[in-house]
Amino acid sequence: MDFECPLCNALINVNEQCPSCGHDMEDWGRVEDYFEPYAPYLDRDIATMGEPPHQCIHLFSCPRCGYDTRIIVNQIPV
Ligand SMILES: [Zn+2]
Ligand SMILES: [Zn+2]
Repeated sequence: MDFECPLCNALINVNEQCPSCGHDMEDWGRVEDYFEPYAPYLDRDIATMGEPPHQCIHLFSCPRCGYDTRIIVNQIPV
């Protein structure tokens, strides 16, 4: 069974508001597209569950003040 990220596939919208200035934040896409894979908690999940978690981590950034954060999206079976 394949899992897809509903946000990558434009199936959902995430309206995240900047905690710093209140402006709507923008989805910059998958964190993996910007950085080397670095997620210690994901490594731990892989070690304990034997399979990678079906999650997609997105980078959200505020166009007004530059605040950025990561949103974990649970992938869905397709
Ligand atoms: Zn995604
Ligand atoms: Zn902001």
